[in-house]
Amino acid sequence: MKPLLISITASLLLTALTLWAQEGGSVLGNLVGRDEWGGGDTGGEQGKPAQTTEQTAKDIRFISIHNFAGPKDKETTRLKSNQAGHRERGFGDIAYHFIVGDSGRIYEGRRPTLAPASNTYYLSPADLKTKVTSIDEGKISVAPDFRSKARERIPGHTKGHLTVSFLCGGRVQNGELVDHPELFQPQAMQRAATLVAELLVRHGLEPKDIRAHRELAETNCPNDAIYRWLRGETMTQ
Ligand SMILES: [Zn+2]
Repeated sequence: MKPLLISITASLLLTALTLWAQEGGSVLGNLVGRDEWGGGDTGGEQGKPAQTTEQTAKDIRFISIHNFAGPKDKETTRLKSNQAGHRERGFGDIAYHFIVGDSGRIYEGRRPTLAPASNTYYLSPADLKTKVTSIDEGKISVAPDFRSKARERIPGHTKGHLTVSFLCGGRVQNGELVDHPELFQPQAMQRAATLVAELLVRHGLEPKDIRAHRELAETNCPNDAIYRWLRGETMTQ
């Protein structure tokens, strides 16, 4: 199945790049800046103890896709509250580099030279080959003894990727997005695809270098709706 999934992702990106060329609309060049949403400057990370790791553009090996859900406040209100929560957890700043709102606005998050932070343990390429016991819709499971060791190493190895997260209205229950008025906001998905395409080009990566969080760590993130969109399956609402 894997080659098929990659080809579907590639076609999505091709569509995004075509739209980008037609509209001349760079998403990276039109982010909602941190000053605009109230995220503050990126010079000094806060939170104690801040478990942060630096990364450079050369370290970027893949782009990871996420979502987080919350009450349907204004997007900027939710970003600020998430940033505060993530700082409390020792992430230093909001966990994600780019955040996609339902509005289609894409927000500048964590600075790209700060490695992503997560409450999950990211498996190394070697772990992915040897420790995964099952995969269901991309969701990996590992053996219980490895899981308990991995938990001790959280926040784990997160250096080497850029994170794109959907700021979904609604909440996630058992991996499904519920209380959400519409699963797909077309403008948000289209702009997200363009953003990911631009990031791949900028970092010399390929469509196979797009990863869902659930493919790398034991988590339901991103939710099933976003995962199926990413991997090209038809969604029914
Ligand atoms: Zn995630």
